[in-house]
Order: sequence, then C-alpha cells, then structure tokens
Amino acid sequence: MHNVNMLEAKCPVCEKRARVLDDMSKVICKHCGYEDEYDAYLEKMKDRISSIVDEFMLER
Ligand SMILES: [Zn+2]
Repeated sequence: MHNVNMLEAKCPVCEKRARVLDDMSKVICKHCGYEDEYDAYLEKMKDRISSIVDEFMLER
C-alpha cells in the first residue's frame, strides 16, 4: 500500500471527489467512471467556470 497524499479534484461529471494521479497525468473518478488527462480536465473545468459566469451575467 502506497502512503502518498492523494490529490483530489472535483469530478466534472458527477461533482464528487475524483482522484488525481501522483504524476498529475490523469484524473479518475471512482463514482461515475470519469477518466481524463489532467490537462483535459483542467480545460473542462475552465469551460465550466466560464459557462457558469455567462449564466450569472445573463441572470443580471
Ligand atoms: Zn464522477
């Protein structure tokens, strides 16, 4: 058993806690099976944030 600090990330699909691999190469979510390159994950989260901001702007 490896005694490492697991990095955690928010899963973009199910909003639960996903795991970032030690070498930061991938993000894996055990809850819904989401799995992606870390870079792709970051892009996805950026898209999400900007779309949330867009919606927020429209509300106003
Ligand atoms: Zn998930």
